[in-house]
Amino acid sequence: MPELPEVEIIRLSLEPVVTGREITRVIVRNSLLRRPVSEDLPSETAGEKIHEVIRRGKYLLFRCSGGTLIIHLGMTGKLTVVPSSTVPSRHDHLDFVLAGGLTLRFTDPRRFGLVLWTRLSPLEHPLLRGLGLEPLSPDFSARHLILRAKNRILPIKQFLMDHHVVAGVGNIYANESLFLAGMSPFRPAQQLTAHEHERLVSALQSTLRNAISAGRNHIQSSHSAEKPEGYFPLQTWVYGRSGKPCRVCGSIILRIRNGRRSTYLCPSCQKEEGKYV
Ligand SMILES: [Zn+2]
Repeated sequence: MPELPEVEIIRLSLEPVVTGREITRVIVRNSLLRRPVSEDLPSETAGEKIHEVIRRGKYLLFRCSGGTLIIHLGMTGKLTVVPSSTVPSRHDHLDFVLAGGLTLRFTDPRRFGLVLWTRLSPLEHPLLRGLGLEPLSPDFSARHLILRAKNRILPIKQFLMDHHVVAGVGNIYANESLFLAGMSPFRPAQQLTAHEHERLVSALQSTLRNAISAGRNHIQSSHSAEKPEGYFPLQTWVYGRSGKPCRVCGSIILRIRNGRRSTYLCPSCQKEEGKYV
């Protein structure tokens, strides 16, 4: 699932290509996404010029003259810019045909993504209104986390993934940040000290910045004819490395399943007695 860095990389790669272009036509091949695509979307957006592409959490906002196109990539969504003559494949559900022979194409095999249009302030849209702070914004701080963690007994990893607390952090970057902070993912959020919250903020920000930087490098070194989709190879500390030696201490990385997500950790670097051994 794309998280904040992947969505930011998509934004960075799309923005120079689509900004200033007019949406001339919208083709909806399959409207059954997480929410059905409105029947009015083609008529509402045709003729609109894209002024800028911004990101809020995992949402991409294409600000146009008369409103904003809000896109979420769900679990498997991709946005690519292709020549308009490119034949669509099976999971290419929407095309925004742009002036100048290019098309912004939305592809999503599992169809958990969403595409909608609003003429109101997008940040006030019910889907975005309750999002927590952007973790790379100047307002994001240990103080913010301390206030939000008050009386929260849930594990710190789940707390980090609560989008009302921090926007855009999912399983990969929550696991990675907790490793970097040397902290057990199972610590109840309210038990963290101020110093630990500071360590966590710093680890989270550095993890996200490094991932964005890896994505940028991947874009620059990619000679693929297709525009980057936001997915890039990431060298992780713990995520996806169960059974492999910790890059710091050599202990074997553990994977603990909880529901449909897995928690990855180094039992030495993130030691908390009795929780996972
Ligand atoms: Zn270790």
